[in-house]
Amino acid sequence: MMTIIPFIYKFLHKPEEQLPCYLIRTTPGVERVVMESLHLNSHIQQDTKGPRYCPSIESRVLRFPGRSHQVWLEPEGMTSELLYPQGLSMTLPPDQQLRLLREIPALQRVEIQTPGYGVQYDFVCPTQLSPSLQVNRVQGLFLAGQINGTTGYEEAAAQGLWAGVNAGRTAVSLPALALSRTQSYIGVLIDDLVGLGVTEPYRMFTSRAEFRAALRPDNADLRLSVRGFEEIGCVSATRYKEAVRVRDNLTDALSALQSISMSAPRWKERLKDVNISESKSSLLSALEVLQYKGVTFEMLTSGLPEPFSAYLELSQRLKIEAVYRPHCEMQQREMERIREEESLALPQDRSERCWTEFVLKLLELPPVYQELPLLLLFTSFNMSIEQGEGKAQRDEQTTRDAAL
Ligand SMILES: Cc1cc2nc3c(=O)[nH]c(=O)nc-3n(C[C@H](O)[C@H](O)[C@H](O)COP(=O)(O)OP(=O)(O)OC[C@H]3O[C@@H](n4cnc5c(N)ncnc54)[C@H](O)[C@@H]3O)c2cc1C
Repeated sequence: MMTIIPFIYKFLHKPEEQLPCYLIRTTPGVERVVMESLHLNSHIQQDTKGPRYCPSIESRVLRFPGRSHQVWLEPEGMTSELLYPQGLSMTLPPDQQLRLLREIPALQRVEIQTPGYGVQYDFVCPTQLSPSLQVNRVQGLFLAGQINGTTGYEEAAAQGLWAGVNAGRTAVSLPALALSRTQSYIGVLIDDLVGLGVTEPYRMFTSRAEFRAALRPDNADLRLSVRGFEEIGCVSATRYKEAVRVRDNLTDALSALQSISMSAPRWKERLKDVNISESKSSLLSALEVLQYKGVTFEMLTSGLPEPFSAYLELSQRLKIEAVYRPHCEMQQREMERIREEESLALPQDRSERCWTEFVLKLLELPPVYQELPLLLLFTSFNMSIEQGEGKAQRDEQTTRDAAL
């Protein structure tokens, strides 16, 4: 049994009591029941299209015939005798569900408390939302979760938090806020939804974030807690104080690690088992040495108690930071480019005239300009629209003056 201990904030409750889950597998009998009952199934027949996430056992059998699929038996609660068969969601008639379950040796005498069922729901196309999750055409209405075409607890919770923050700000006449996709998974999620829309229930994967090496659980407090307290007011003072204390100590510890440099042979003397090439001519900082496989912050502390021992509580975070830092630094320029593009406000006038003019202007450009980033093109377009509008106002003014 595994106990998960959140290492960023020790003051968060950690789960004490745990119950075991059991892993079982489907048998050819399960597949047989599915195939024999397809004609009774209103949700799934020969159509194997549908959500890819948490697929029903019928979809899994149809998509991957002849295989054994894993099923987790999860206790429903500390005091419950019920088990939830994770991996066996299905929409067969209840008597067929019981038949199917009993095809698995571990479930030969199982009884069903609540049969599985299918859900169909509609959603609002999320491209109709602003990055604050407000419906563009209905000011004051904010949407979050499944209604925006996502699926998942975390996806719904993240949007609920952000829609709530912005609904609250709007209610007290504060401007809505957006989160950058370079700064958080919530930023990636919302940017994908409102920018691209959805073609299937959207799930947040780390692979959707360009800068996932920087969006790590170990630095979530540095990325978001301080901002959450200072700018938004959705983070408690206790959590904020802890985040600031950790941030300041990490900064000091990283400077201390960078301030000590030695030649490779001298590091090798202190860290005998570490694979540092002695032929390296330049000096190596302690931060660079911490990047090496097998080097821990504790090892550096034992060789150089001053100034490192003060930061022992951060040893795990410092190791992670040291390993990821070179990669994140390489991505810095790309991150800044994306932030610049994110901060570009589209003209309020999104009428057909405006967009037609934009497209016509793009088509007028000589091929060489097609290589330019969209940002530059858009900036010049904005300028010309503003100039055009200024001219229109001046023309109107002249006409009115003439009329007077
Ligand atoms: C069987 C099942 C298993 C799942 N397992 C997982 C899983 O393991 N992991 C995972 O990440 N996700 C899982 N999901 C998906 C996840 O539960 C949903 O994507 C998520 O809960 C959606 O959250 P939501 O807040 O958008 O909607 P909901 O949780 O559906 O909340 C909507 C709420 O609005 C209420 N409501 C509806 N109409 C009205 C009205 N007119 N007036 C007032 N209230 C109204 C509803 O009663 C409901 O409480 C599962 C879903 C199902 C059905």
